[in-house]
Amino acid sequence: MGNNLSSDEANRQRNHPQSYAQSSSHHSHQPLSFNYSDKSNAKPPHDFVVVKNPQRHRERNMAPSARAAPRQQSQSRQRNRSAGGNELNCPTCSAPFGVNIFQCGQGHSSCVLCKSQDRSCGICGMALTDMRNYLLEDYVSQTKGNCPHAEDGCKLVLKVSDIETHIRECPFKIQTCPLDPEYETCVWSGKLKELSNHFERYHRERWLERKGDNVQEMQLNNVVSSCSQVYLIVQGFFNFLFFLQVSEINREVYMAVQLIGTKHSAEKWIYEIHLYNKNQSRKKYTFTDNCTSNVECIKDVFDSKRCAVLPLAYINSFVNNGSVTFKVFVKSLYERKPLNSNTDSNQAGRVGN
Ligand SMILES: [Zn+2]
Ligand SMILES: [Zn+2]
Ligand SMILES: [Zn+2]
Ligand SMILES: [Zn+2]
Repeated sequence: MGNNLSSDEANRQRNHPQSYAQSSSHHSHQPLSFNYSDKSNAKPPHDFVVVKNPQRHRERNMAPSARAAPRQQSQSRQRNRSAGGNELNCPTCSAPFGVNIFQCGQGHSSCVLCKSQDRSCGICGMALTDMRNYLLEDYVSQTKGNCPHAEDGCKLVLKVSDIETHIRECPFKIQTCPLDPEYETCVWSGKLKELSNHFERYHRERWLERKGDNVQEMQLNNVVSSCSQVYLIVQGFFNFLFFLQVSEINREVYMAVQLIGTKHSAEKWIYEIHLYNKNQSRKKYTFTDNCTSNVECIKDVFDSKRCAVLPLAYINSFVNNGSVTFKVFVKSLYERKPLNSNTDSNQAGRVGN
């Protein structure tokens, strides 16, 4: 029983002998620390999932190594069970290897979490050194795994080396209410699929649910003083944010639409803003551009003017009964349907792609 991990390690060495070569030329490298600067509860790369051989893994879970640190066992076994099992696990904690892998004095490999917690090698008990196993890191980074938010609906399968980048923009991570202090104050956080309900309940005046071809008419009442507004547009399975900002200082109005999703996904969407005056049927302003991803700070989008920019004097020429009337359309570039149709259930598969 106590030899389980050792024999696994031996099997792996047989399967990928070159991966286990010591990289002594990199001996002086310091361990890299992961930097998760976004506000989400993104999981560390330690949890990256590499599904290879579920059956074999279940067997291992039933007979955990006596050498693994007891306080780690239940946690890592749980993680592995939800991961569906895999071969490329750290022999010290049994969780999947992350991006950085460190070696003990004998050349056995352990993950960065074990290294950062000063654990000793799960195979021989020696201390983990700063020596990285670059060949094994290369091998692990080229293997593919599910997004850590797979259980919440993210269908992406990515190279382990790309997962860290992806989880920063994964739409299935925990979202915070876009009506943050810059706009209004709301401290809600939750899953993307709960965001629409949250708006319906708490920010109904900012909630634009699109059904059929109905595109709501919106009104901006005060076109003189500075203000910022954000609306949630729910279209089919997709969620968009429409931002509007009136800047007294610049004497300009900025408008843009962002997809709550990855940059890659946002490139597949465009938005159109129609500004009109009901009393002057021939006067109309139309603006079209690509949606950006909400990963980009909207302030940067406005500052770099990658959005609709209207001089205050011009937008004032649309004022009718004290307010400006406009509509915001969102359209998929891959949809041969009338603007704003939202009945295509196939869209579900495109979320997060
Ligand atoms: Zn480990
Ligand atoms: Zn060792
Ligand atoms: Zn994802
Ligand atoms: Zn809110």
